[in-house]
Amino acid sequence: MVIGAGVIGIEMAGALKQQGMEVTLVEYADSISTALADMEFSQKIIELLEEKGIRVLFKSAVSKIEDLENVQKNIFIENAGKKETLVAEVVVVAVGVKPNLDVLEGSGIAVTERGIVVDSKMRTNISNVYACGDCCQPLSAITGEAISSALASSAIQQSKIVGFQIAGFPIKFNGSTGAFAFQALGKEYAGVGLTETEARKKFKWVITGKAVTTDVYKDLTIAKELEVKLIFAGPKMRLVGYEAFGNGVIASAEVASFAIGLKLNILKMLRFNYIAHPSMTPWPFMNPIIMATEDAMGKIMEKVKGFFN
Ligand SMILES: Cc1cc2nc3c(=O)[nH]c(=O)nc-3n(C[C@H](O)[C@H](O)[C@H](O)COP(=O)(O)OP(=O)(O)OC[C@H]3O[C@@H](n4cnc5c(N)ncnc54)[C@H](O)[C@@H]3O)c2cc1C
Repeated sequence: MVIGAGVIGIEMAGALKQQGMEVTLVEYADSISTALADMEFSQKIIELLEEKGIRVLFKSAVSKIEDLENVQKNIFIENAGKKETLVAEVVVVAVGVKPNLDVLEGSGIAVTERGIVVDSKMRTNISNVYACGDCCQPLSAITGEAISSALASSAIQQSKIVGFQIAGFPIKFNGSTGAFAFQALGKEYAGVGLTETEARKKFKWVITGKAVTTDVYKDLTIAKELEVKLIFAGPKMRLVGYEAFGNGVIASAEVASFAIGLKLNILKMLRFNYIAHPSMTPWPFMNPIIMATEDAMGKIMEKVKGFFN
């Protein structure tokens, strides 16, 4: 039994299934969070888990786990209003992290329930006290708002920013793009920045572009499908989000993370010079970043054409 259909829960459920276990994934929301993936990608992830024999229970809140000392553990859940008791031998709780801020009580350091408040130099409100990593709320590279990041890659960058301040270099943290990836049952998913759902809550203008391509030349027998979505937003049509499902997600995810961090817009994205190689990349005209950018650009051109007609 895996509790929590987030990045860790999904990856754990897949790994345990591959070990030959019977796996149930329990989640109290009605789907995978829209902060993680838009509906079309959540659907693909859920279908993959179910196809491979994982039982996925949404709208199911775990209220109690009993008999922890015994091999058989009883798990009480409320499944869509119906109370049920499930039995498992192994329970993985993957429901996220909350910083433990008790230690700061009386220190005067400003906190919210999501962590220590910091500025772009990772300074707290108290002079010469810095915070970085999971305990703080770094600023978003997209909106500049304080966010929960909880990623190793972001923590490392933040720690170096603290080092720069101490060494006397006033270098600022560029903000977190929240780039992450997971793999389960032979497929990969990566997300950077905002999903389309989240972007529509923050920006008036949002345009998306899609690419369905392959991880290497499509005629190779080893080629596997890769679907990429880019999310552009705001009056300047800046790249604010990326999602991908399939195989070979990392290369385009990292390009997207760098571009989002640099606040590149759609015209700059069209100038991306990529590498083409027969056994390491897609066909030269099937680069996912360019294909998805061109798809979004086509939608903008359609709108502009309508304006002049
Ligand atoms: C299962 C799992 C998988 C993950 N996978 C990824 C991944 O694939 N990619 C990714 O980018 N991130 C991943 N993460 C997140 C990543 O591990 C964290 O973002 C990263 O470790 C944060 O670094 P940190 O130094 O802020 O905190 P931590 O690595 O948690 O280090 C904090 C340390 O401080 C110690 N500590 C706490 N309180 C006190 C105290 N009062 N006094 C003294 N010491 C204290 C703790 O014991 C701990 O050793 C994963 C996390 C989990 C749980």
